Amino acid sequence: TTKKIATPKRTQEILKKYGFSFKKSLGQNFLIDVNILENIIKEVGIDKSTLAIEIGPGIGALTEQLALHADQVIAYEIDQRLLPILEDTLKEYENVQVVHQDILDANVDEIIKNHLKPDQPVHVVANLPYYITTPILTKLLRDKLPVTSFTVMIQKEVAERMAAKPNNKSYGSLTIAVQYYTNAEVLMNVPKSVFMPQPNVDSSVLRLTTRDEPPVQVNDEDYFFSIVQACFAQRRKTLRNNLVRYFNDTYDKEMISVILERIGIDGTRRGESLNMQEFALLANAFHQAAE
Ligand code: SAM
Repeated sequence: TTKKIATPKRTQEILKKYGFSFKKSLGQNFLIDVNILENIIKEVGIDKSTLAIEIGPGIGALTEQLALHADQVIAYEIDQRLLPILEDTLKEYENVQVVHQDILDANVDEIIKNHLKPDQPVHVVANLPYYITTPILTKLLRDKLPVTSFTVMIQKEVAERMAAKPNNKSYGSLTIAVQYYTNAEVLMNVPKSVFMPQPNVDSSVLRLTTRDEPPVQVNDEDYFFSIVQACFAQRRKTLRNNLVRYFNDTYDKEMISVILERIGIDGTRRGESLNMQEFALLANAFHQAAE
């Protein structure tokens, strides 16, 4: 345990020993900085009561830290070539289970239920493959897992969009989709130099803390998310114009104006100025009008 995986030297050794070549298409950028990993573990509050779920263990840099601090670790890895490597690098840790599966196909709820001990908190921690960050997080949030928090290393711009506040250029339908389920905060920005190979983009660590209840009551979640998306379809257009475009044949401009007036939302505003409560009000009003 003294020779940590997440150092440039040890990582080089492991890659060389197995003749491993990075697959860009799988978003393989491995962490080579133990300090960052220890910070993440501390921020998440991983301790010996924790069940940790990891997505994409790579050669085990983060997995090792999770194994040292958590009770159990379950890690999903899609790349078959990494399985024998992980078997070797994590051989000292008996509390790790590596699952060879695409996380997008995984039944995470079931695996959690099969492993969970009474009163055990579950935390998802990952240095995500950047090419599918949004699909992975969307899937995991929609699965409504019994998870306390998701702490993920992702592209800085995407982290900013997920944690954005209204009236900010990063604020959009992704913000609402994420903040409907969680409380989002950027914990730290991370330089490119802590990865091997270095990615082309800057990274941040984002923490999503699961909410007990959504912050707003909506009549129909799918309808709500569609309306939100419609309001951001053309960011520089007014709310009313985006809605006219979206409702096309269903409601004309006049009807839309009447509904907006009734709920007290000015149609000349832009979508990016509406907070989550206002989006809920809007979606519920149109949903009701449709009945
Ligand atoms: N956790 C390691 C680290 O921090 O050094 C590796 C992180 S690397 C950014 C992303 C990892 O996710 C790679 O090991 C890659 O093979 C894996 N991966 C990519 N797509 C995946 C998917 N759909 N399901 C599971 N793992 C995936």
